Amino acid sequence: MQNLILNDKDDIADLLQRTRDEAVQFLEGLSTHPVNHRRQLPAPVGLSPSGLGARQALEVFKETYIPAMTGSAGPRYLGFVTGGSTPAALMGDWLTGVFDQNAADTSSAAAAQIETSAISMLRELFGLPEAFDGRFVTGATMSNFVGLAIGRQWWGHRLGVNVAQQGLAGLPPLTVLSGSPHACIYKSLSMLGLGRQNLQQVTTLPNREAVDVDALRQAIQRLNDQPCIVVANAGVVNTVDFDEITAIVALKRDFNFYLHVDAAFGGFAACSPRYQQLVSGWEQADSIAVDAHKWLNVPYDSAVQFSRHTELQAEVFQNVGAAYLGEPNTTDSFHLTPENSRRLRALPAWFSLVAYGKDGFREIVETCCDCAAQLGKRIEASTEFRLLAPVRMNVVPFTFNQPSASSAQVAAFLNRLGENGKTFITATTYNKTPGFRAAFSNWRTTREDVDIIWQAALDAVSEQIRPR
Ligand SMILES: *Cc1c(COP(=O)(O)O)cnc(C)c1O
Repeated sequence: MQNLILNDKDDIADLLQRTRDEAVQFLEGLSTHPVNHRRQLPAPVGLSPSGLGARQALEVFKETYIPAMTGSAGPRYLGFVTGGSTPAALMGDWLTGVFDQNAADTSSAAAAQIETSAISMLRELFGLPEAFDGRFVTGATMSNFVGLAIGRQWWGHRLGVNVAQQGLAGLPPLTVLSGSPHACIYKSLSMLGLGRQNLQQVTTLPNREAVDVDALRQAIQRLNDQPCIVVANAGVVNTVDFDEITAIVALKRDFNFYLHVDAAFGGFAACSPRYQQLVSGWEQADSIAVDAHKWLNVPYDSAVQFSRHTELQAEVFQNVGAAYLGEPNTTDSFHLTPENSRRLRALPAWFSLVAYGKDGFREIVETCCDCAAQLGKRIEASTEFRLLAPVRMNVVPFTFNQPSASSAQVAAFLNRLGENGKTFITATTYNKTPGFRAAFSNWRTTREDVDIIWQAALDAVSEQIRPR
């Protein structure tokens, strides 16, 4: 083993060159690489007694896995909300591994500054005030988790309890109110010991996924002055609907609540004058979650959490009692996030923000929305499909043009589309109607891709009507 590793060390230039060649080949073929999974994988290789060396490991990887990789970073993968990776972001991601900094504290001054600098650029991109501190975490789930953890601490103090110290025993349930919460809000409540059942789903506006603010007011009123958490949704996954955050913020004049905003991808509305009013008011929130591996187009896994309550955040996440970690403070990330050691996750974002600037991200957002609008128009003009809701930004929710599609029909259509391999979209249900959602969030997608996607959808539907 020792020999293999030493040989690899001497061979590093050649090994990285080979790795780079594979990477370039994959990226250059990405727009024609099948977007869906290949169904059969060879058996996994086992642990070799003496090792194969890095060159051979690359060969095994090439044979076993490269053909089976999805083209999810490509231009026609429209499942979930899946970003790609800009060239600059990929450079940053590679170098994150090369420099291998532990971006946990300020002992790597460069790492610490790269993170604060990336956060500061993101604040500017999003038009958020400096009152927001920010940290990189692994995804919007963790970002929402951190926001809710700070909210829990805030709530405990209102009841005279430091929850981080004393725990939840003896306290009444903490009510969390939200109109169309993402599944990860429930998961976070479970992880935080707050209980999934204490999320009260508030009525949404008719035919909308945005919360009915009057109903929210009444729900808060029913709590009789008990403090609570409100989760506002800025970009619901199905229809990209936005809560009216300004109206929710106005409720703070009369009621005592902590406001967290889940803006996982909808936060990017702030990049474009066409959409920025959708998030207006979010600058008044207590905490905000924004994903980076979605619309910022950095590789997985990356998100940012913004908070105005660094002190409360440190109460929750501080590392105490480890002599080697020093005194708790409000600057080191290991006192502010769930992780202790962490990679320099900020570097891909830093590269991409420096490389493309404000205009670059405005263009990515607007192009994705234009592509969604184009697909929406095709759907509206067709006899085969109809929209389930208006195309508000980058997601097209649609279904078959018939009174009620069945989930089986939806699954059969997605199968056909999958076999064809040109595009990937996911199933959904909206207003009790099964259908599809096509989400555009990749910088590579062009109007020509929309033509290919549309043709693939028409082919799949006609094969379904007239099976081969
Ligand atoms: C994607 C998403 C999440 C979860 O984000 P992950 O990055 O997958 O953890 C939460 N909320 C919304 C609105 C999302 O779109």
